[in-house]
Amino acid sequence: MTGEIKARRLRLGMVGGGDGAYIGGIHRFAARLDDQFELVAGAFDIDAQKGRAFAAGLFIEPARAYGDYREMIAAEAQRADRIDVVAICTPNHTHFPIAAAFLAAGFDVICEKPLTTTSADAVALVEIAARTGRFLGVTYTYSGYPLIHAARAMVAAGEIGKVRVVQVEYPLEWMATAIEQGGNQQASWRSDPKRSGRGGSVGDIGTHAYHLAGFVTGLKLEALCADLATFVEGRVLDDNAHVMLRYHGGARGLLWSSNLAVGCSNGLRLRVFGETGSLTWHQEEPNSLLHAPLHGRPVTIKRGREDLAIAARALTRTPPGHPEGYIEAFANLYAGFAEAIRARREGRAPGLIGQAVPTGEDGLKGVAFVDAVVDSHEGGQAGWVRPAYV
Ligand code: NAD
Repeated sequence: MTGEIKARRLRLGMVGGGDGAYIGGIHRFAARLDDQFELVAGAFDIDAQKGRAFAAGLFIEPARAYGDYREMIAAEAQRADRIDVVAICTPNHTHFPIAAAFLAAGFDVICEKPLTTTSADAVALVEIAARTGRFLGVTYTYSGYPLIHAARAMVAAGEIGKVRVVQVEYPLEWMATAIEQGGNQQASWRSDPKRSGRGGSVGDIGTHAYHLAGFVTGLKLEALCADLATFVEGRVLDDNAHVMLRYHGGARGLLWSSNLAVGCSNGLRLRVFGETGSLTWHQEEPNSLLHAPLHGRPVTIKRGREDLAIAARALTRTPPGHPEGYIEAFANLYAGFAEAIRARREGRAPGLIGQAVPTGEDGLKGVAFVDAVVDSHEGGQAGWVRPAYV
C-alpha cells in the first residue's frame, strides 16, 4: 500500500456538491490545483437521478456515480481501485452519519464545517477516526491563506509580544431579507435548526472566525459570553452574533458574525493586538498583512516575499504581485490533507503543510464553540446592567 500510494494521485470521492450546490465546486477546483487528487466517484445529490446526471458532466465513470452514500461505500469497498478519501459537502445535519460510515468502512474523510450539529456527535466522530486510524480533516478554509500562516508564525515568534486582544469579524449581507422563504437552496437549510444545528450565523461563519483567531494566536478559549439576535421576521436561528471571548492567559477577544451586514460580502477580518505590535488581515485583500510595531512605522507585508515564514512560502504558488485568493487558500488545505493522508499511510510524520491542516479535533472545538455560544445566550441576562440614565 505504501509504495502504491506514493506512485499516484489520491483517489477522491465526493458526497454532495451536485448541481446548484455551492461548496462542492470549490472543493473540486481546490483538489485539482496541485495534482494530488483525482475525483473518481461520487453521490453528488440528495436526488439519486440528479446526482448521476451531474456525475456524467464531471466525466465520472457511470459505475461510480452513486445514488447515495451507502451505495457508494458498499461498492467502493469492493474495488481494488477504491477511493482513498471522501469529501463531504452536504448540509450540516448529514455530516455525522456520512462521515461515521466512511470512517468505519476504512476511508479517510475531509468534512465540511461545522463538523456535526451536536458536540456529542463531534466527540463520537473524533473517536471513530482515532479507533479506525483514519484521517479526518475539516475545511476551515481561511487557515489556508499564506499570510495567515505568516501571521501565525509572527505571533509564535513573539514579534508582536504577548497577545492581549483579538478582534475577529465575519459579516455577510446575503440574508438581510428572508430569502429562505423564497426558496433559496443554501439559505433554506441554513435557517432550519434540524438541518443547520443550533447556530445560525454563528454556526455557519462564526465558526470560521473562531477557528481563524485560534489558529493565528494559538490561544485557547477559557469562557465566552454571547448575545445572539434574530432580526428577520420568521427566522428561527440567529442572523447576528456578538461573542465576548476570554482566553487562557488573560487575552480578551470579540467575535462578530452577521448574515445581515448590508454592504459586506465575506468581509472576514482579523486583528491581533500584542504588547509590542499588532497584525491586521482582511480577506478582501488577502495578499497583504499589516504589521504595526509599537512606536514604529506600520509595514504592509506582501505574500510571496522570500523572508516570510516557511509555511507561508510553501503555500504560495505564484510570484508576488500576481494575486492569489480563495481558491488557492482552499487548495492549500487540500495540499495539506494530501500530505497528512500520505504521511499516515507511509507511517511517517507529516511535513509542515500536513501538520497545519484543521482536523477532527478542530472541528469538535468549533461545534463546542457553537454550543457554548447558544448556551450562553439562552442562559439569560446575567451580566446585563441597565444604566441609571440613558
Ligand atoms: P448546498 O445546499 O449548496 O449543497 C448541498 C449539496 O448536498 C446539494 O447538492 C444536495 O443535493 C446535496 N445533498 C444533501 N444531502 C445529501 C445526501 N444525503 N447525499 C448526497 N448529497 C446530498 O450547500 P453548501 O452551501 O454547498 O454547504 C454544504 C456544506 O458546506 C455545509 O456544511 C456548509 O456549512 C459547508 N460550507 C463550507 C464553506 C467553507 O468555507 N468551508 C462554505 C460554504 C459551505
